[in-house]
Amino acid sequence: MSAATGPSTTRLVPPAERPLIEARDLYKRYRLSRQHFFKPAPTVLAVDGVSFKVAPGSTFGLVGESGSGKTTVAKMLLKLEPPSAGTLLVDGMDIFAQDRAAERAYRSKVQAVLQDPYGALSPRLTVGRIIAEPLVAQGRMSWKQGEARAAGLMDMVGLRSDGLHKYPHEFSGGQRQRIAIARALSVDPHIIVLDESVSALDVSVRAQILKLLEDVQRKLGVTYLFIGHDLAIVRYMSTDVGVMYLGQLVEIGTAAQVFNRPLHPYTRQLVAAGSADTPIRPLGAGGELPSPINPPSGCRFHTRCPHATALCAQQAPALREIDSGHQARCHHIEQIAA
Ligand code: SF4
Repeated sequence: MSAATGPSTTRLVPPAERPLIEARDLYKRYRLSRQHFFKPAPTVLAVDGVSFKVAPGSTFGLVGESGSGKTTVAKMLLKLEPPSAGTLLVDGMDIFAQDRAAERAYRSKVQAVLQDPYGALSPRLTVGRIIAEPLVAQGRMSWKQGEARAAGLMDMVGLRSDGLHKYPHEFSGGQRQRIAIARALSVDPHIIVLDESVSALDVSVRAQILKLLEDVQRKLGVTYLFIGHDLAIVRYMSTDVGVMYLGQLVEIGTAAQVFNRPLHPYTRQLVAAGSADTPIRPLGAGGELPSPINPPSGCRFHTRCPHATALCAQQAPALREIDSGHQARCHHIEQIAA
């Protein structure tokens, strides 16, 4: 594991307030299938020493190219993947050291709304049943009670409750995403993971769903982990932002710090491009995102960085605080910022 990583503290969460989410030096290593009979199976370090804190009721945005490790962090928060090392605390509790009862309670506290609302909604169930299903599965309500609650949630997300008896295919993409949000809200979550949850929608519908998410947060105080590739949207939604590159956080700060004064050369290129999906400017021999199976030595960004020096290829930089709470992982940040 990288020697240049370590737990980081930020001022994203005021010192007196306990963060709702605290990732401490998280690692996730995957073993890939063996390529050669006589060679060990290759491994990939998808998450490499990631630490952050998220205040209750805030939105933490994660950006980075595909393969940067954002979704793996989300999967750990959803307890779909255990970390290989490190600790993930939610409300002060290590979520990977829970007994069964605590785990059951946790699963209702943390919900997800993903990119494809159609794939997330069972085509064979009516919308009322889809929304009520988590409550019934947890034994908290009967179907009748659950569907009554579903009617209230439909109203909250801006859908007519007479749609309860319809099926997902009878709704538009934006309406289906509203149904997915209502389903997530049915179990009174404290945290919702929004992984590219507006990316597949038309621009006008996207704005409506973002407004709905804002209203829900204001009313219910829910905390969001917001993963997106459109930087304008991440900036609009997020209180704080982390930028990931090849499994590492390379910059973290408030949304205003990261977007108004990006420090790390990678963040600067992302902000200039406006999207984490736009291929960043090819530099030297290595314009493409290097393979995470065999990441570059030293600073992982050195093969694409216009400021790289010999030191960058040899020594991995640490994530360090440059301004109050604004951290970046770069040897030469002072010169670049100046
Ligand atoms: Fe670029 Fe070097 Fe900074 Fe890495 S450490 S971002 S290669 S200047």
